[in-house]
Amino acid sequence: MAEFGNPDVIEEEVDILIIGGGMAACGTAYEIGPWIEAAGGGITVKLVDKAAMDRSGAVAQGLSAINTYIGPDQDPADYARMVSNDLMGITRDDLAYDLGRHVDESVHLFEEWGLPIWKTDENGERYDGSKGMTSLKDGGKPVRSGKWQIMINGESYKWIVAEAAKKALGMDNIQERIFIVKLVNDKNDPNRIAGAVGFSVREHKLYVYKFKACLLVAGGCVNIFRPRSVGEGQGRAWYPVWNAGSTYTMAAEAGAELTLMENRFVPTRFKDGYGPVGAWFLLFKSKATNAYGEVYMDRNKEMLDDYPPYGQAAVPASCLRNHLMLKEMKEGRGPIWMDTVTALANLRETLSPREVKHLEAEAWEDFLDMCIGQCGIWAGENIEPEKKNSELMPTEPYLLGSHSGCCGIWVSGPDDVGAPTDEAMDGVPEHLPKGWNWGYRGMTTVQGLFTAADGVGASGHKFSSGSHAEGRMCAKSMVKFVMDNKDHKPELDTSVDELIEEIYRPVRNFLEHKDYSTAIDVNPNYITPKMLQFRLQKLMDEYVAGVATYYTTNANMLEVAEHKLAELKEDALKMRAKDLHELLRAWENYHRILTAEAHMKHIQFREESRYPGFYYRMDKNFVDEENWKCFVNSIYDKETKTFKCFKRAHVDLVDKSKLFK
Ligand code: AMP
Repeated sequence: MAEFGNPDVIEEEVDILIIGGGMAACGTAYEIGPWIEAAGGGITVKLVDKAAMDRSGAVAQGLSAINTYIGPDQDPADYARMVSNDLMGITRDDLAYDLGRHVDESVHLFEEWGLPIWKTDENGERYDGSKGMTSLKDGGKPVRSGKWQIMINGESYKWIVAEAAKKALGMDNIQERIFIVKLVNDKNDPNRIAGAVGFSVREHKLYVYKFKACLLVAGGCVNIFRPRSVGEGQGRAWYPVWNAGSTYTMAAEAGAELTLMENRFVPTRFKDGYGPVGAWFLLFKSKATNAYGEVYMDRNKEMLDDYPPYGQAAVPASCLRNHLMLKEMKEGRGPIWMDTVTALANLRETLSPREVKHLEAEAWEDFLDMCIGQCGIWAGENIEPEKKNSELMPTEPYLLGSHSGCCGIWVSGPDDVGAPTDEAMDGVPEHLPKGWNWGYRGMTTVQGLFTAADGVGASGHKFSSGSHAEGRMCAKSMVKFVMDNKDHKPELDTSVDELIEEIYRPVRNFLEHKDYSTAIDVNPNYITPKMLQFRLQKLMDEYVAGVATYYTTNANMLEVAEHKLAELKEDALKMRAKDLHELLRAWENYHRILTAEAHMKHIQFREESRYPGFYYRMDKNFVDEENWKCFVNSIYDKETKTFKCFKRAHVDLVDKSKLFK
């Protein structure tokens, strides 16, 4: 192995590079082979994941439900309607509809690969997936926890999906433990992608890839806000801590247009363990109350009238549910309780003893499947859910595009759904072809750069199954792109030496200055990645509507945040890496900073509070349908190192009037 600070450099050329190993990447890996074959073969593909695919991505720990399954009785248009409503009216119906018509096929594949899915028998009695029963594909009836959600025994969900992906693509074409730091544009076309550069987190090797097309699916962004967890618990978060904003930052730096980066998700979770609430609210029909046993959704229901028409929806948006809960907390009627005791008692009245036993086991299995830490809390605090209620808490904000959030990258939609004209608003530059389709589903505004799942903005509620389906769609469109660009020779616009110089800066910072002080972590010449992360989290928390201010901010606070972020970005060049692990942390933090900056700039630009309960601009504390029912998009300028935000027109392709009372 080369001496630290002087890595071996490995250069490779493939047609398609997949960056990431989560649900979307697995979907692409599974799907791409047959499309390559149909195209006559000869297209090379490589997948790189910074971790190990069996347990990487948001589904790593498992899940107890698949939250997007349309089934034969619902229409993808209903799904697009629900997605729009939960995200306060501003989503891309073309993307949601397209997902809705493909997602079930992914679920059927999961079942075929061995994922146990709960079923009901002809009498409507429920059984868990170990019972087998008719498959969904052959007309088996899933146990629906909600209108869109179905129950599974999913501790090994990701293993199962990864196994199929690995088998399809072949381990020769998969490289684990490679962290990609940045994308490289094409020397002959700045709006085209030509390569990516990263390093092994196990060996002292740097990798430079050249390609015609690339799928960037490295998840959403966690840990830009100070988390509620402290000390040893800090590794615990709701979404995976390894989601470091790499998708958004690398795409932005390559010139891709971002959308709705002001959007965030603040999930209400079981306190301290971040245990999921979906099964409790939907399957167990549990209610959440204030300290005095009052259901805040009833007590504060008139607050929904402040947000027409969204407040009138049959199921109020996730942010509005938070909005009603926060009133109780702010006015001193906390803690908030999940009334598990009443919910389980009620179920005992209607279900058979066998089903009750099954559901009581599920109360634990729900957490064991996907959030084992919450079981630790129940055990540690002597909580038996049938006897003692559990506290709920809104978490720190998360940025993502696959769960109940919709920030991300602006991508080309399907060519057969709507595709309205995208009229310029307020003198916005028209740098794209008209409409929401520019040839290749899932391609960003940069030629050859594709994304899916958390990467795709303006279409939330894809969850695990939808992320996989979106990855599969990209397999097809990337093959098409490569076929259409057969003769293109990618050339990097930056030399390999310059790339090494940049990537290894944190290592050099360390080697050059380590002997200046006797304590390795205390040194005026560098900052540890951990300390830098604390700085980022503190400023985002205090100025950009974190938990410290009950999710409130205003233009003045954002201005302060802007200065502090600019200084932090400057100081990020001083991060040190004493080993490969810290080099990973240093670059993850850099990705976090740029994502945080995009979030802040978008909140600053959108002069309203579109997502009450997720964040409030107190100086513009209203939803302004007339001026702001539009997308806020942005482009990052690498030269000036700034984001420029602008409006893009929103169009409803699906009639939304059905949603409202
Ligand atoms: P979660 O367990 O919170 O990740 O949510 C799982 C699913 O349940 C998602 O589809 C959520 O949108 C949905 N969900 C969670 N809580 C509620 C609620 N109170 N009302 C309606 N849907 C919910």
